[in-house]
Amino acid sequence: MTRPLLMIPGPIEISPAVHAAYQPLPPSHVSPGVIEAFGASLERMREVWRVDTSYQPFIASGSGTVAMDMAISNVVDSDDRVLIVNTGYFSDRIAEMANRRGATIEHVRCEAGYVPASDAVSAAAKAFRPTVVIATHVDTSTGARVDVPSIISVAREHDALTVFDGVCATAGEAFEMKAWGADVYLTASQKAIGLPPGLALLVASERAMKRRERIENLPPMILDFAQWLPIMHAYEARKPSYFATPATNMVLALEAGLKELTDVGMSEVVARHQRVADAMRAAWKQLGLTLLGPWENAANTLSAIRYPAGVDATVVSTIGANGAIVAGGLHPKHKAEYFRVGHMGYTTTQSEWLVQTVNAVESAMNHHGHRCGGGVEALISALAK
Ligand code: PMP
Repeated sequence: MTRPLLMIPGPIEISPAVHAAYQPLPPSHVSPGVIEAFGASLERMREVWRVDTSYQPFIASGSGTVAMDMAISNVVDSDDRVLIVNTGYFSDRIAEMANRRGATIEHVRCEAGYVPASDAVSAAAKAFRPTVVIATHVDTSTGARVDVPSIISVAREHDALTVFDGVCATAGEAFEMKAWGADVYLTASQKAIGLPPGLALLVASERAMKRRERIENLPPMILDFAQWLPIMHAYEARKPSYFATPATNMVLALEAGLKELTDVGMSEVVARHQRVADAMRAAWKQLGLTLLGPWENAANTLSAIRYPAGVDATVVSTIGANGAIVAGGLHPKHKAEYFRVGHMGYTTTQSEWLVQTVNAVESAMNHHGHRCGGGVEALISALAK
């Protein structure tokens, strides 16, 4: 490897198979290889999202923010009442997207690192009567994970559509889209899906697709479900098609990345993320470190770790110099209080990278005056459980 390990909460290290699939000279979007990869990826997305053929996957070019705007512009209109289960930076972003559609917005907020209590969500919904409920599955700014089924059950009481931002969650956290009854689940390629940045991915329920038919304030063409639906149908039927040029190398990589997930099976992939998260947390505890929020709602995919007394954000570059690139805080009010370590995707299969990361954190903490030790032993013994 020519640089330190990339242990931020996305982009992340990718597997050799994904790297190899990405590498060929740029193919045409109507070449047999791309048509097959696109069609197979749509089919595999249904396995990863845990849905049947009544749900419609979309593969678009762009980052997670594109997937968010695609979701919002197809299911939110000016007459909607949108309840945001707000856990931080990315909940604020999706709220602003709904605001720009002219919808009426209400937030249920909580302290940084926490998630709103389900009683609070339920009470807010009773008072506000939402038509759409939106939550960030894992908020990357705080490392907090919401309880998706309880949010859906509140939304159901009001017959509201649900949209979940899974950018920092999909393929690292359990999400049973059909069984739980979510309407849109969106993500990006560069996190637990295990690709470089560049693809915006989402799956829509029949209800969400019907909502698009009634949207009066049309989405921008490039984001419009109606423009892309025939293209998705064509690729799934393994036929050439064109509306706007897809990121062809990324589509080849997507097929390889999704295959790695479906070959293992989603329940095992999620269980692996849980095991690794538990082991990383065992190491943080051993090092005398605490999280920004409570351990109970901490995500599988990253840790948001408070700087211990006497240590500040300069430790982040020392950790990088020790061999693992980690990220600073992101929550606007609290960013000087914590740093973030990603543990998702291919990285979760490479225990020596986890060891390297814990080692880098441990020695940097000691270098900055926080005396600690035994992190790697705690990690290894938790991984062996
Ligand atoms: N939502 C969440 C939860 C995220 O973590 C991110 C990216 N960190 C985004 C949305 C935005 O994605 P992108 O940066 O790929 O546009």
